[in-house]
Amino acid sequence: MSIAYKILCLSFLMVAIFPGTAISGDLKGYPQTLWKHLEAVVAVGPRPPGSPALEKLRGYIRSVGKQYADEIREQKFTYQKPGGPTVAMVNIELVFHGKTKKAPLLLGAHYDTRPFADEEKDTYSRKFPIVGANDGGSGTAVLLALAQYLHAHKPERPVRLVFFDGEDYGAKFSSHYFIGSKHYAAQLKKADRKEWPYCVLIIDMVGDKQLQIARETYSSENASWLLKMIDESAQKLKVPQFLNPPKHTVRDDHLPFINIGVPAAVLMDFDYPYWHTLQDTLDKCSPESLYAVFSVVVDAMKRI
Ligand SMILES: [Zn+2]
Repeated sequence: MSIAYKILCLSFLMVAIFPGTAISGDLKGYPQTLWKHLEAVVAVGPRPPGSPALEKLRGYIRSVGKQYADEIREQKFTYQKPGGPTVAMVNIELVFHGKTKKAPLLLGAHYDTRPFADEEKDTYSRKFPIVGANDGGSGTAVLLALAQYLHAHKPERPVRLVFFDGEDYGAKFSSHYFIGSKHYAAQLKKADRKEWPYCVLIIDMVGDKQLQIARETYSSENASWLLKMIDESAQKLKVPQFLNPPKHTVRDDHLPFINIGVPAAVLMDFDYPYWHTLQDTLDKCSPESLYAVFSVVVDAMKRI
């Protein structure tokens, strides 16, 4: 096979994989990088808070941080459900100094996965932990790829990539959710306002093959200007996976920030049939979806 023919075949393949999504020069290779990260995260297995698997993933996040970030910070704390064990939790923050001293942009994702598959139809399956390729995996993969991008392209505004622990720890309708982001927001509340982020953008469940990101209600109410910037980037880049009208109201890691007065939004596709089931696996995700979100966030980030 000639080199020219190989290039031609590769071009057809890329068009087939990424229809309507142009990959600009400085984002070349990122679809593969995103997928490689997601594969690595999922390979660790289910990653509930306090598990050896989650500690293994921390090692992976730290190794990416050592390679690309200006600083790595960690918040260590413990959490105990009534009558349950004391669980050690860690928020990991990759810090990127900007060209300016403006307030930082905080991009967050949870890296833990749900300890039980409580949306499974049969009760036996519900007691097993999920691997969370999409729920926990996809946002982590996007943040890890952003670390590489931010190392190569110093941002104007400083950026903090925060990997939150304990987002999915609680039983349905309980209060044991968003443990890591609640802890982070509580620390911010004690800190000087000069330390506060300019805004927070949470990335969660963005790997679904049939990705459609509609506006989330709390995000629309508290950071509509941020979502407008995201929409403008999606339109400019002709990324069809972003939809304009608000659809779902979702409690996620953006809420603790909204509650203390920091503008915060979440990017999420909540229409995911495998949510909180054992079927939330790698084959339900695609590099195209991860790249759609990654490219829009990279573009919007330059204007925030
Ligand atoms: Zn979840």
